[in-house]
Amino acid sequence: MSKSSASAIAISCKGLTKTYVSGPQPITVLNDVTLRVLQGESVAIVGASGSGKSTLLHLLGGLDALTAGEVQWGTRPLSLLKGDARDRARNETLGFVYQFHHLIGELTALENVALPLRIRRLAVTSAQARASELLSGLGLQERMTHLPSELSGGERQRTAIAPALAGNPSCILADEPTGNLDRQNADRVFETLTNACKQQGAALVLVTHAAELAARCDRVLHLVDGVLQG
Ligand code: ADP
Ligand code: MG
Repeated sequence: MSKSSASAIAISCKGLTKTYVSGPQPITVLNDVTLRVLQGESVAIVGASGSGKSTLLHLLGGLDALTAGEVQWGTRPLSLLKGDARDRARNETLGFVYQFHHLIGELTALENVALPLRIRRLAVTSAQARASELLSGLGLQERMTHLPSELSGGERQRTAIAPALAGNPSCILADEPTGNLDRQNADRVFETLTNACKQQGAALVLVTHAAELAARCDRVLHLVDGVLQG
């Protein structure tokens, strides 16, 4: 890649190490992990159950304390971002997608997707317009006024990725977002995430068990014995 066409680094970590000390013996789950993901780049993280994939995403998201190393969102080191400032930066920078949906049962699909934008103090009409656009893109235009309990499992999971994309994050962290979906719904979720990555220039870090989806990302990294391998 020539220097002029090089993209900026959206999220990165260096020397990232995590040791859990809560059990009878300390377990080092991540050992000196270095990762750089560019804007518009998709990276799949694969690895056995218990290999530390969720731990890595939590640390990249600044949701858990690291043992050693540094995480940067863009050019901002997380060690310099604390408390409210970190929460604000996370809200502006990152979109999280979890394996099991985090939707609020009393809110409609539309209200759930609009919520993060309302938290950012966007007006109701603008927030709902953006939510409506995202849900339509996910094929859920007929389901916007449904409560989560009135949606099928696949519809709920599709709905649950929209709040993460609503604020045009510069980095999307997705933890097995297609894990419990059939092929058609998994494809739709994957395409929505990779479209956000390519069209909005977001970095996508996707933890997945689906080898076929991983292979469609720009890079596939394997987490083995606490180390990321190409
Ligand atoms: P994965 O997402 O790849 O399945 P995790 O990151 O959830 O793996 O977990 C990696 C390892 O760290 C596992 O051995 C797990 O038992 C351990 N672990 C995860 N969270 C904690 C915790 N809060 N305290 C102690 N050990 C933990
Ligand atoms: Mg996990």
